[in-house]
Amino acid sequence: MRIVSLAGGIGGARFLRGLKAAVPEARITVIGNTGDDITLFGLRVCPDLDTVMYTLGGGIDEDQGWGRAKESHVVKEELAAYGMQPQWFGLGDRDFATHIVRTQMLNAGYPLSAVTEALCDRWRPGVRLLPMTDDRAETHVVIEDDEGRRAIHFQEWWVRLRASVPALEIALVGAAEARPAPGVLDAVAEADLVILPPSNPVVSIGTILQIPGIREALSEKTVVGVSPIIGGAPVRGMADACLTAIGVETSAQAVLELYGAGLIDGWLVAEQDAGVRLDGVRVEARPLIMHDDEASADIARAAVTMAEELA
Ligand code: GDP
Ligand code: CA
Repeated sequence: MRIVSLAGGIGGARFLRGLKAAVPEARITVIGNTGDDITLFGLRVCPDLDTVMYTLGGGIDEDQGWGRAKESHVVKEELAAYGMQPQWFGLGDRDFATHIVRTQMLNAGYPLSAVTEALCDRWRPGVRLLPMTDDRAETHVVIEDDEGRRAIHFQEWWVRLRASVPALEIALVGAAEARPAPGVLDAVAEADLVILPPSNPVVSIGTILQIPGIREALSEKTVVGVSPIIGGAPVRGMADACLTAIGVETSAQAVLELYGAGLIDGWLVAEQDAGVRLDGVRVEARPLIMHDDEASADIARAAVTMAEELA
C-alpha cells in the first residue's frame, strides 16, 4: 500500500510515528511544510522537516516535541554574549549541525529536496520525506502594534510574540511562483490513499495546499483527515489564532469546511464533535488524543481503514 501524508511539526510527526506502527508494510511519502523555514545566523532552518526527521529517526526531544534529545546550548549562549540577534529562537548545539550541513549543501547548489534526502540518510525516518517545494515560499503574518502595521516572518509572530498580537493576515509569500518539489506530484499520483494528520490547518496543511498543483492532485485521491481541533479548541499550540486570522471558526466543523468536500472524503473527529456533517464526506467520531504511540497508532489505523473503505 502506498500512502501520502502531509505534515507540519509536532502533531504531524507524532501521528506519522503512529501511522508507521499501524501499517508497517505501507510505503509512506510525507510532504512536509516548509513555509515556517527561516534563515538565522546565515543558516537555513527547516523546523517542520526536522521535527518529522528527528521524531521518526529517534533523535527528538520527546518532552518538548521539537529539537534534539540530550541537547546543549553553548553556541546560542556564545552568540548572545556577542549580542547577536535574534535570541528568541531556540537552536541547540546538535541542531546547529543539521543547519550547517543543510546550508552548506544549499550553497553548493543542491535543492532542498536533495538536501533533505541526504539528511535522512543519517536519520532513516522510515518514510520518504519531501519538502512541499524547493522554491522559497515563506509564511508571513501582518500585525499592527506600536511600530505600526507591518508583515513579520511567521516564526517571529509564533515564537517571539507567542501569537499574542492578533494576525490581521497570514500569507505564503512566493506561493504563486512555487512548484511542488520533485517527486511530490508523482507520489500523489501513485498513492492508494492520502491521510491528513492533525497538523495546523492554516500554517502547515494550509500552506502545503497553496503550492500550485498539490491540492488539485490530492483531490483526485481518497483523502481522510484527522481533526486537529477538539471541542472548539486546538489540542496544543495556537492554531486558533491562525484560524481567527483567516476568518475561520475554531471547530472541527469549520476546519472540515475549510478543506472542503472537494478535497476530503473522510473526516475523523473526537467524540464530543460527533455532530459534524458535510455533504459528500463520511464523518466518524472516536478518541483523537495522541497520549502515546499506541493511541497515535489507533487513530492512524482508523484513518487508513476508513480510507480503504472509501476508496
Ligand atoms: P506544529 O508545527 O508543531 O504546530 O505542528 P503541526 O502543524 O503538526 O500541528 C499542530 C496541530 O496538531 C495543532 O492544531 C494541535 O491542535 C494538533 N494536535 C496536537 N496534538 C494532537 C492530538 O493529540 N490530537 C489531535 N487530534 N490533534 C493534535
Ligand atoms: Ca510548524
